[in-house]
Amino acid sequence: MASVSLSRVTKSFGAHEVLHGIDLEIAAGEFVVFVGPSGCGKSTMLRVIAGLEEITSGELRIGGELANRIPPGERGIAMVFQSYALYPHMSVYDNMAFGLKLKGMDKGEIDRRVRRAADMLQLSPYLDRRPRSLSGGQRQRVAIGRAVTRDPLVFLFDEPLSNLDAALRVATRIEIANLSTAMPGTTMIYVTHDQVEAMTLADRIVVFNDGRIEQVGTPLELYERPRNMFVARFIGSPA
Ligand code: ADP
Ligand code: MG
Repeated sequence: MASVSLSRVTKSFGAHEVLHGIDLEIAAGEFVVFVGPSGCGKSTMLRVIAGLEEITSGELRIGGELANRIPPGERGIAMVFQSYALYPHMSVYDNMAFGLKLKGMDKGEIDRRVRRAADMLQLSPYLDRRPRSLSGGQRQRVAIGRAVTRDPLVFLFDEPLSNLDAALRVATRIEIANLSTAMPGTTMIYVTHDQVEAMTLADRIVVFNDGRIEQVGTPLELYERPRNMFVARFIGSPA
C-alpha cells in the first residue's frame, strides 16, 4: 500500500494555483527527494502532505486513508525545517522529550524513545547540554531527534541542511542516511536544491517545475535518461 498518494492534487492561494494536478505515489519506507527551482511548490507539497495546508482539489491519501478524514496531529507525520526551533532554556533531553510529555506519554516510554533517538543521531553525550552550547549541525540533529521520538510513519524534511556550512552539511547528510537505514519502514520525503544530497539520499527523485512534476525516477534513471534539458540541468547529467 502506498504510504502517501496524491491524485490530481491542486493547491491554490486565492486565485494563484501553485500545484497543478499532482499525481504521485510514494511507497512505505521509500526515500523520495523533491528538487526544483525556488518557488516551484516543493514546500507547499510538504505542507499539504503534513496537513498544514488544505488541498484545493484532488485526492490525498496517507496510508491508504483519505487525508481530510485524519486530523493533522494523527497523520503520523513529523516535519523538520531548515531552522531548528529548539527551546533555548531546556536541555537537549527535554527538547526531545517535551512533545511526548505534552501528549501524556509515560516517563519510561519517553526515556526509551529519547535515548534511542539520541543513540541513532550520536547525541547521547549531549543530552544534558543547552542548545546554545552545541554546533549548528548538532542542533539540527536535536531537531531531527525530536521528530524521531514521535516514531512517525512519514518524515518530511524541508531543506534541513541549507543553514549549515559545507563540512557539517556532509556530516549531517550521512546522519540522515543512517537514520533512514535505521528506520526502514519509515517513509522519508526530503526537499533540497543540492544535487549531491538528492543523488546520494534518494531511492527516487521527483523533479518539480512550476507546480508540475517534470520527471520521477531513480537517481541513475534521471542521470542517464533525463526527459528534457530542464531535468538534465537539475540532475547535472551531461545530456
Ligand atoms: P518552493 O518551496 O519550491 O520554493 P513554495 O512551495 O514555497 O516553493 O511556493 C510555491 C508558490 O506558492 C510560490 O509562488 C509562493 O509564493 C506561493 N506560496 C507559498 N505559500 C503561500 C501562502 N501561504 N500564500 C500565498 N502564496 C504562497
Ligand atoms: Mg521551499
